[in-house]
Amino acid sequence: MTRREYDLVVIGGGPGGYVAAIRAAQLGMSVACIDQHARLGGTCLRVGCIPSKSLLESTERYREARHALREHGVLVGEVSFDLTAMQQRKEQIVETLAKGVAALCQQHQIAVYQGHGRLQGPGQVSVQQGDQTALLGAGRILLATGSRPATLPGVELDGDRIGTSTEALAYDQVPRRLVVIGAGYIGLELGSVWSRLGAEVIVLEALPRVLPGTDLELAKLAQRVFEKQGLQFRLETRVQSARVQDGQCVVACEGAEPIECDRVLLAVGRVANTQDLGLASVGAEVDARGELVIGEDFQTTAAQVYAIGDCVRGPKLAHKASHEAVACIETLAGHRAQVNYDTIPGVVYTHPELASVGKTEEQLKEAGVEYRKGMFPFLASGRARTLGDTEGRVKILADTITDRVLGVHILGLRAGDLIAEAAAAMEFGASAEDLAHVCHAHPTLAESLGEAAAAVHQRAIHVAPPQRARAGKS
Ligand code: FAD
Ligand code: AMP
Repeated sequence: MTRREYDLVVIGGGPGGYVAAIRAAQLGMSVACIDQHARLGGTCLRVGCIPSKSLLESTERYREARHALREHGVLVGEVSFDLTAMQQRKEQIVETLAKGVAALCQQHQIAVYQGHGRLQGPGQVSVQQGDQTALLGAGRILLATGSRPATLPGVELDGDRIGTSTEALAYDQVPRRLVVIGAGYIGLELGSVWSRLGAEVIVLEALPRVLPGTDLELAKLAQRVFEKQGLQFRLETRVQSARVQDGQCVVACEGAEPIECDRVLLAVGRVANTQDLGLASVGAEVDARGELVIGEDFQTTAAQVYAIGDCVRGPKLAHKASHEAVACIETLAGHRAQVNYDTIPGVVYTHPELASVGKTEEQLKEAGVEYRKGMFPFLASGRARTLGDTEGRVKILADTITDRVLGVHILGLRAGDLIAEAAAAMEFGASAEDLAHVCHAHPTLAESLGEAAAAVHQRAIHVAPPQRARAGKS
């Protein structure tokens, strides 16, 4: 069998893998990128970020047309929806973007292989597609194999009625009653999609809170807003099993009555794809969670084998994977590059959105860090009023001694876009005072960041003064 030689062979064509392949090509390496799917773009593009945001946007437009236009004086007749058209729009977006990724790879002269990639000892990778196998020689190998939905013992996934996010992105009918297992961001985003279209959605969560890992105060506030929108939450409810019985899905929980429904969405996290990769042939090790062990330079325990993205430690987010991709390749090429894990933002694309960067209050308390807190509610924002969307607030946490911004948490309309300013500020080591001095255009939602930063030092303009000062007494 002839063996093609490359400077770099990347296994996985997601936002980790394809970004790494392009950056390596830009730096003059000969590159091959392997993915088992015909469409490049990975989970993110095929069954993750992009299709979920497409459905979230379409269903939010529907909700708005039904409930929010009247207050603007816009009267529409009866509003209905076409699920097939929503799904087709989603497919179209995915296809267009996937073609874009393929074109970029072609323009960068990256050899794309479709098939299952597997390590075959140092410097060698096989690509298997059906009964065809190709062998690639690699100066260096990058593993960017991503992740898949975590399963729960007792939950019998049937790829249809009891499924994961992949199925919930493609339902061809609105479920009458949908049970979502897990109140993480995937469960809440897809729960919102189907709730907006009329499904009764019940979210079961083992912990006493929603959105674990996010700032508790804002997560509680978000839960109340989602409840007003119709989502039902059963917290401290541990699911034991889910199966199809006599044509119905039945979900059994510890210490509670079983719940009948017509669909179940299992959303209890994601696990790294590190199985069937030939890791032992090079000596690359995984940790107890099944994630590839890497050092600061992204090298695994095997020489010249690197790993990034969802298959290694850290948040399972597309932009984290892409940032690691660039840092890894630039390091390989001898540049100085690293990822600042303290400033990776996270966004929940519900309505309103919940976006965060840096530490939560709970994390600061646990670490014993002294901090000050500044808050600003969107109720007091002129722009939020004109948009008709005043739910939520901005919260800024700053070090008491240095005033450095340690965390920013936003619940509100377009919070996912607003958080970019906070991430930039933190990247440059800004203080709350620095952020308060930024001149924000009026009227914008971003002004609320400036006000929350000023509130860290009780200097926000558009909030009521403390009782004592208002009464003029000392
Ligand atoms: P992946 O995107 O998983 O790509 C890995 C690729 O490698 C896949 O195409 C896989 O098929 C392929 N592969 C694996 N093993 C092999 C092999 N042996 N041979 C060949 N090919 C292989 N993140 C965000 O940042 N924002 C969001 O809004 C967001 N929304 C999400 C919504 C949903 C419903 C889901 C499921 C995920 C979402 N994510 C989101 C997470 C995001 O999709 C992942 O963090 C991201 O895709 C990780 O990128 P990656 O390149 O590491 O892996
Ligand atoms: P994430 O990891 O952000 O996708 O969130 C997954 C959520 O599922 C977490 O909030 C977990 O607490 C929750 N979870 C895990 N196991 C169970 C279970 N058996 N029953 C209900 N919720 C669970």
